[in-house]
Amino acid sequence: MVSTSSRAACTLKFCSSLAIPSKTHVHSRPRGLNTALMSSSSSTPPREASVSDDGQITLQEWQGWGPVSPLPAKVNQVVEDLKLLERNIEAQMSFGGIGGKLKGGFKIQEDKKHRATYQALGDSEKKFEFYAARQIACRLLGSRGYLCQKCWLALEDCMCSKIKPSALWQGIRFWVYMHPKDFLRQNNTGKLLWQVFGVQSATLCLFGIAEDEELMWDAFNLAGKSNVWCLYPNPNAVTVSNQDTFGYESSTDLACLPMMTNRDKTLNIILIDGTWSNSAAMFRRLKEQAKSGWGEEYLPSISLATGASAMHKLRPQPSWDRTCTAAAAIALLSELQLLPKFSSYGLDEQATALEDGLVVLLEALTARRLRMGRSITRKTRHKGDIC
Ligand SMILES: [Zn+2]
Repeated sequence: MVSTSSRAACTLKFCSSLAIPSKTHVHSRPRGLNTALMSSSSSTPPREASVSDDGQITLQEWQGWGPVSPLPAKVNQVVEDLKLLERNIEAQMSFGGIGGKLKGGFKIQEDKKHRATYQALGDSEKKFEFYAARQIACRLLGSRGYLCQKCWLALEDCMCSKIKPSALWQGIRFWVYMHPKDFLRQNNTGKLLWQVFGVQSATLCLFGIAEDEELMWDAFNLAGKSNVWCLYPNPNAVTVSNQDTFGYESSTDLACLPMMTNRDKTLNIILIDGTWSNSAAMFRRLKEQAKSGWGEEYLPSISLATGASAMHKLRPQPSWDRTCTAAAAIALLSELQLLPKFSSYGLDEQATALEDGLVVLLEALTARRLRMGRSITRKTRHKGDIC
């Protein structure tokens, strides 16, 4: 855990989603958008999953939520098991709250069942895959008919019409490596990447979902290991100006990124889209997979020089000491633009397009909170979880 006393250490922290206070204060007047980056679904009413028909997840539905992978077998299996349990105990599954959590009597039975399944699995990899698949399946079932598939906001808050797509320079492909707990979260910002740039330029890869990870690593193998980079928040990084060296111990100067002269080759950049506490495990898994594929833990990470300072131009500025996946991508594109060899690809405009998308998301979340009578201010508290 990073010390809270070190302001510099906070600047490169990536959150998969916008800041979520565990408590909010109700103020008579909102103080502005900059503190409004909050969870928007803490007291949603229970909702029943629309699985009374055959309830299958189709490939079309799966990919409608953002993935480009085939329907994952283990996710499908969890859905099948949930439906079977529903028939056996004659209790309909229902969901509520954040993240497609099961509710009611069904939840009690399902808890017993999934714990037994988990315990019976032999190795930790299988346990992990089951955990990931169950997270994804529950979120997916719990969000059916409730969230917009494209923007992951409640249907009444859909922001899709306000998002302006933009073409990302073909020399870059982003991979949004997302923790299952961030899948279908309304305040997740990783989703903006493919909403703005399209799924071929910014591709979702779900952590622990074999079909997604295989697809990503197939692309990496095709590109070659020298063209795969991970934008990882280095907790030891300090805020430096662009003129300063980037040479952190374990990360690389952006200027060292290879210039793609071959049109078939692309810089593959992984954005880790998980909470700070989850991101270390995610990075570790990437390195392990690099080792099994390439024979060495070769996965260079790159750091941003500007960190939080890149956020200053955001309108509205999110809380100063946090950044999020979309902001990390914005900062990266902005920094690359400053390097001569990357300066002629319009990366600054592409950063602006993504920034516009982030503003649209912030406004949608804020409007929702105001409509629901919740505060959009955040008590200046819990410094302990800033880093
Ligand atoms: Zn939408």
